[in-house]
Amino acid sequence: MNLAILYRGPLASCNYDCPYCPFAKRHDPPELLRADRAALTRFTGWVAETTDVRLSVLFTPWGEGLTRSWYRDAMVSLSHLPHVERVVIQTNLAARVDWLADADPRSAALWTTYHPGQVTRERFLRRCSRLSELGIRYSVGVVGLPEHLDEARALRAALPEEVYLWVNAAEGRRYDATEEATWTELDPHFGYSVRPHLSLGQPCHAGETAVSVLGDGTVRRCHFIQTPIGNLYDGSWRAALMPRPCGTSICDCHIGYVHLKPLGLRDVFAGGVLERIPADWPRRHLVQAGPREVQRRP
Ligand code: SF4
Ligand code: SF4
Repeated sequence: MNLAILYRGPLASCNYDCPYCPFAKRHDPPELLRADRAALTRFTGWVAETTDVRLSVLFTPWGEGLTRSWYRDAMVSLSHLPHVERVVIQTNLAARVDWLADADPRSAALWTTYHPGQVTRERFLRRCSRLSELGIRYSVGVVGLPEHLDEARALRAALPEEVYLWVNAAEGRRYDATEEATWTELDPHFGYSVRPHLSLGQPCHAGETAVSVLGDGTVRRCHFIQTPIGNLYDGSWRAALMPRPCGTSICDCHIGYVHLKPLGLRDVFAGGVLERIPADWPRRHLVQAGPREVQRRP
């Protein structure tokens, strides 16, 4: 049995100040940080004990986790567990990454995002170089805002070919065909992000072989459907795993629609679903054809 878990504890603070983010420069009070640490400790204990399931974990904190020692420790300890296939965290890469020398590079990986205006490209690239030296798998992403385009191009040019650069469509922004083509030159899979997927009634792996887990152990299908289907710590999650159609109108975030069955993205990203690295990366030639789609908004 394989299960991908997207974990999100109470932590919601971030050291960066991105203008497009509600968590920018937010500070968590000490009691919330203690609760977040305790919840993560409980979760990692559960992962260590649950040896009859082949687990993959993606930490998706609202804010930045790698400035906190407990997320770094969790990445290292989970990476060494034989039944943990992959352990990944979404990060702005602000913190040093040398601690990853203690992690198993066969299972630890990072989903990194470059935020122009918050960090220089040179500094971000130094972090990337260190990850490459350590043999850690990572993807690099940017938000597809017009003011990021020059930086995104320069970043793509500077990154090693084997590093995949993804582009997320900016929330609420519509892209005309020219803009879409421009961003697709940087990320051949931008077409999956540029418009929300009409997911209602479509079969989805979420709730069957992928779940979302909150700090208190609440298990939901995904981060986008709030109804709990069980709890991690009372064992009720096991009976809850089953195929279901999606119950919401759209799915517009990669960590969700990568599980939407008709898209076939688990094949496109095979071996790198959680860290967002396509199976066939690096490519010699960028694709011209658009992605397969379920349905698109007009
Ligand atoms: S780095 Fe991420 S969490 Fe932090 S402010 Fe920017 S978008 Fe928000
Ligand atoms: S399609 Fe998206 S919103 Fe619907 S169940 Fe799957 S991950 Fe959740």
